[in-house]
Formats: sequence, structure tokens, C-alpha cells
Amino acid sequence: MSDRNILIIYTGGTIGMVKSPVTQSLVPMDFSNISDKVPELKMFNFKIRTITFESPIDSSEMCPEIWAKLVHLIKDNYDNYDGFVILHGTDTMSYTASALSFMLHNLQKPVVLTGSQLPMGTIRTDGKENLIAALEIAAAQENNQAIVPEVCIFFQAKLYRGNRTTKYNAENLMAFRSDNYPHLADVGIHIKYNYPYIRYTTMGNMFSVTDRMEPNVAILKIFPGITRSVVSSILTAPGLRGVVLETFGSGNAPTAPWFLGELRSAIERGVIMINVTQCMVGSVEMWRYDTGIHLMEIGVVSGYDITTEAALTKLMYLLGNYTDVSEIKSILNKSLRGEISIR
Ligand code: ASP
Repeated sequence: MSDRNILIIYTGGTIGMVKSPVTQSLVPMDFSNISDKVPELKMFNFKIRTITFESPIDSSEMCPEIWAKLVHLIKDNYDNYDGFVILHGTDTMSYTASALSFMLHNLQKPVVLTGSQLPMGTIRTDGKENLIAALEIAAAQENNQAIVPEVCIFFQAKLYRGNRTTKYNAENLMAFRSDNYPHLADVGIHIKYNYPYIRYTTMGNMFSVTDRMEPNVAILKIFPGITRSVVSSILTAPGLRGVVLETFGSGNAPTAPWFLGELRSAIERGVIMINVTQCMVGSVEMWRYDTGIHLMEIGVVSGYDITTEAALTKLMYLLGNYTDVSEIKSILNKSLRGEISIR
């Protein structure tokens, strides 16, 4: 037995769900005796401990308060464990992975999120494989250093940087994609780590966490024919501080004076707006078309190739921890945790 220790935090989700005898719908089960359900866990040569949320949740209930609870659990146990596996529903897993990547500073240990499309109790469950590989990755070290000291998602034979992922499939067992960034590892007969793409923080920098996330943010997804009242009702929401503007193609939006006027007056009121493409692959390049240049001129910030999940949680993080609007805008254009392909 090695002296490594891994902590599993079970938040809820399909991986630990059972059928309710009353409604026949899936409801969270008690996950505290996980190694009774997955006896393979006893074969690992490291120790595993599990913390279960008192009331496990469907990940649709996820919110900044629960992210805060997770970062405190990690902080309180940081020195006693070599890695963390968070069991989480797939629906909002990419949001949580993105949020945690910003909330954990100078992370030097793996935080691997995983879950499943089929509950652990079903014959074809993908939960066992996902859990076992996630644990192996969380415990993997070379020269006494974690191989992947990042917040990642492991799902169906692939390890992804968490803040680059999106859930794109509600049916297939391959539920996630990371179209703008390579996988961090491929799991087959061997676990092949994609070393050049793994992010390492400077050794010696102190690990710390923040639990401050600004909740007054919105996603405004534009579509052909979007009306002024819809745009205005979102942008004038009381207390609004940040908006992810989901645009067409390489960052294009209508040029109608009313549309640009609504955006401009929100920006003048101090609302920070980040431009993210509705496409799965590629980057915002606002200078390419006239329809993008107008956004640039009124002060919309480019999101480059960031996902909506990462843009939203990065805004929450920056607005919760910085006060100066121009500083926030400049940090939005920097890669904090490898979330955009820019330095
Ligand atoms: N509704 C579930 C959840 O996100 C789905 C899943 O776990 O995959 O919690």
C-alpha cells in the first residue's frame, strides 16, 4: 500500500441515482459505502475516503454557494490528500469544473470531476469505469509530483481540461467535448498523458481559495429576429454586472442602432460584456466583419475561444474578486487557468 490518499466528494448526479419506487424517476441515493458498490476500489494501492453531501443534488441545482462549499472542502483537506475526485451530475459539470478552476489558486493537486450517463446500479453503467479511471488519474504522480495538477473532467476514456469542456450529448455515453483544446490524457490499455498540454503552476506558490462569486450575471444568446424588449429586459435587470454575449460565427451580431444602443448603455452603466461564439469550434475575431467591429467599438470584450461555461464563471469570479472595471476587462483577455488560447 502506498502512502497516497485520495478524497472522493459525492455531490449527487446520475452516477449515484436510483429509481424512486413512488414516481419511477431517478432520485439521488446514499453513496457513503461506495466500495461495497464498487469492490474494485479495494484493489487500489492507495487509500480512499469519501465525503457525501448530506443531501445529494441533481446538478441542475448547482449554484455558487455549493461551489463555495466544494472549495472549502478541498481547502480543509488539501494537506491530507494527494488528489480529489468529485462525483457530479453531468448536466452542469462543465460549469462546476470551470468555476473551481478559477476559485482554486495555485492548485498543485488533481481535482478530477466525473459522473455517468447510466446510474451505478445498472448493468451497463459507465459510472464504474469513469470512477476507477478518475481515481487512478487523481493518484498519478511522477517524481512525487501530481501528473495532472488541474481541475479536469474524466469521461469515457478521455481526460479534459475542465474549463474547456461542454456537455453536448444527452444520450451518448461520450457526453463531453473540448473542441478548442486537446485532451489531457487518453485512457486505453495504458493511460497516455498528453504532457505538453498539461498546465503546471509555479511550484512554491501557496495554494489558496476564494469563495466569492458574483451571481448577478447573464447569458444573452442572440438569434435572428431577437426583439428589443428581450434584449432590454436582460440588460436592465436590476444589479446586473456582467453579460456573456453569445454571438454568431466569429463574434458577429446585428448592427441595428437599437441593438447597439442597448448594449452601449449597459456598458456605460458599468456592465462588463464578453463576446463568445455560439459555434463549438473556433474563436471570436471581432475585427473580421463589420458586424463584429461595432461590438468592439462600444467596448465588448473578446472571449476568444472560451466556452460559455468558462466565460460565465470567469466573469462571476472576476466580478466577485476585483472592483476595477478596466482591470477586469484586461484579465478577461488573459488566460488564468488555460481557459483561452492566449497568454
Ligand atoms: N440530471 C443529472 C445531473 O446532472 C444527469 C447526470 O448526472 O448525468 O445531475
